[in-house]
Amino acid sequence: MSVPASRLAAASPARYVSTRGRMPVARFCDVLLGGLAPDGGLVVPQAYPRLTTDELSAMRKLSYADLAFAIISRYVDDIPENDLRSLVHRAYRSEVFGSAEITPLKTLEPGLHLLQLSNGPTLAFKDVAMQLLGEMFEYVLQREGRTLNILGATSGDTGSAAEYAMRGRKGIRVFMLSPHGKMSPFQRAQMYSLQDANIFNIAIRGVFDDCQDIVKAVSGDAAFKSAHQIGAVNSINWARVVAQVVYYFKGYFAATRSNDEQVSFAVPSGNFGNIFAGHIARMMGLPIRNLVMASNENDVLDEFFRSGRYRVRSSRETLQTSSPSMDISKASNFERFVFDLVGRDPAMVARLWREVEDAGGFNIGEAPCWRSVGQYGFVSGRSSHADRLNAIRKVSSQYGVTIDPHTADGINVGLQHREPGVPLICMETALPAKFAETIREALGHDPEVPPGYQGLESRLQRVAIMDPDVEAVKTYIAGRTK
Ligand SMILES: *Cc1c(COP(=O)(O)O)cnc(C)c1O
Repeated sequence: MSVPASRLAAASPARYVSTRGRMPVARFCDVLLGGLAPDGGLVVPQAYPRLTTDELSAMRKLSYADLAFAIISRYVDDIPENDLRSLVHRAYRSEVFGSAEITPLKTLEPGLHLLQLSNGPTLAFKDVAMQLLGEMFEYVLQREGRTLNILGATSGDTGSAAEYAMRGRKGIRVFMLSPHGKMSPFQRAQMYSLQDANIFNIAIRGVFDDCQDIVKAVSGDAAFKSAHQIGAVNSINWARVVAQVVYYFKGYFAATRSNDEQVSFAVPSGNFGNIFAGHIARMMGLPIRNLVMASNENDVLDEFFRSGRYRVRSSRETLQTSSPSMDISKASNFERFVFDLVGRDPAMVARLWREVEDAGGFNIGEAPCWRSVGQYGFVSGRSSHADRLNAIRKVSSQYGVTIDPHTADGINVGLQHREPGVPLICMETALPAKFAETIREALGHDPEVPPGYQGLESRLQRVAIMDPDVEAVKTYIAGRTK
């Protein structure tokens, strides 16, 4: 007995729901500018499109931008195709990413590769998603006659990627808080040397958590938020996740000859956005064997994949490491994976995150759903500072390539899980130039500075230095959003 097709409201990848089940179904542009779903959950597509063998074969021949369109267009049905195509082509240009490949694959030895995700303007992988976000934000805001003031806190990579993606764009301003004197000189120069009139750097006399608290307080003031069109571009933004799916396909096609082959990916992870995009690629039918999740000493996620126990760390327990972009106390995209793991049961997700609120975590190691975790291909591990230094030295001496400390975490854990006959693709999430101190410690010399970045630290800097004072920050914003 078949149900008439008209009776089935087919689940669509271009329709969005909340992991906690209490959001009306939304479309791509509805969720593009938002953060959390109104019920506190995360926005996810109703379904992942499953690609046919023919569709996958057709993708193998595409350029990066065309591949990006082929994948992202599945998740969007409220931007006309031609418009979406030109947004994607504007974001993924060789002038922005240094080559037409956008994310070239570098082979270290047969079966071991580096997927170079860090050739965008800020030399970290976040540019890949953020550049597209810049195009999409400007497009949708103009279409709706709106403006947006992005408020964020950063300890490094995210803030600069957002500023470079949004600089000079119509209808958008960026107010980025960073801890005064706590970022590397290179990271500081990257952000503070921007002279665009729509970019505002605010250095807070305090630590990253102080910046984060101010952002929360300002965004929590509903009247201020709506009067000044305050928005965010945090790591839970759905469009960022979907843009990252593309390079898993790109890496797969570059490392294989036919779609009968499998590969594994090693991913240095923090907020679980990058590797979650890999999970989506795998759900879409890309032949991925393992997704190797690499943590540093802040091993919240490694603990989960080993045991089923998710235990959020306090800020006191969160260590400052030499792979700082992975220093997380909880993993903000992780709820999206758990939604899939528990069979897309929003009531279950809501219950688990209530436990996170009340008890600081949950344990599903004994739950029936845990038995299916293996089918998602995740394996995990963690690295210490010494492991990172060793990996940097080893890759330098064996292959003549200098990797950054985050990439080193990925390679270290990836190699532990490497299997004969399965190509391993390690994600290069930043270039070493951003982390000179650790490179000097590992190799005894400075990392190479890419062309165009020489002398960055001596350029004129533009930053307002302020105390950790919510009202002062509000006054500053209010004075510049008229
Ligand atoms: C953000 C970042 C990571 C972590 O990525 P997630 O998507 O948060 O898991 C790893 N390495 C570098 C260099 C980063 O900037």
